[in-house]
Amino acid sequence: MYLDKNNGLHHPFDSQFALTCPHCLTYSHLTPVSIPRYAQLQQYKHKQTGIVYRCDACNSAVFLKFDIKSYGEDRVDFSSKFSEMERPRESFNFSYLPEEVETLFKEALSCYANNCLNAFASMCRRSARLVFRDLGETGKLRIFDQFNDVKDMTALDNETFGVVKAVVFDTDDLPTLDAAQAGLLLEMMKDTLYQTYIRKGKLQQALMMRRYFLEDSETNITPIQKQKG
Ligand SMILES: [Zn+2]
Repeated sequence: MYLDKNNGLHHPFDSQFALTCPHCLTYSHLTPVSIPRYAQLQQYKHKQTGIVYRCDACNSAVFLKFDIKSYGEDRVDFSSKFSEMERPRESFNFSYLPEEVETLFKEALSCYANNCLNAFASMCRRSARLVFRDLGETGKLRIFDQFNDVKDMTALDNETFGVVKAVVFDTDDLPTLDAAQAGLLLEMMKDTLYQTYIRKGKLQQALMMRRYFLEDSETNITPIQKQKG
């Protein structure tokens, strides 16, 4: 991708440039609407620059930051890698979670949405500690087994998995996470909280409703009156 001296932006795969929009959460095509000025880039020689796109699905502005690869004679080349200024918020159903766990995990998700991946890891460890305190040692062991099950099911590599496990279960210094490890940690945390609280809560509620309707129908059976001839 490059900018020519007439401020024309050349996108090699323009018609396919799509992303999950942080506003409407749709995987949508993006159209560039605000492009840096060629003359100013050449004057200041920034190492990074930003482009504002329009989400074709919801019309919101989406900000992306690009590294500048090189300043040429009559063009400025951008790296194809970009970083998102706003990440889509992760949706998660917090019902059935203990209030303290909910508070901490909500903060974890905010860190993740803002690309603060190590802060995200810290908040995940704090959330996990509360869960372990709540469940006791057997509960912790059960979650440990669930982690190993996921590893077997998904054939994840040892290194990525080791980092995620260290964040959740270890007590020594937190490892530094890259984007792939943080993504896995997010999925593992969501799965753990789902298995621990949400699945149980939903089942308990469903069983309670069944019992309620059963009792209700038992008490409301009234004998049929004989019709008076
Ligand atoms: Zn959108």
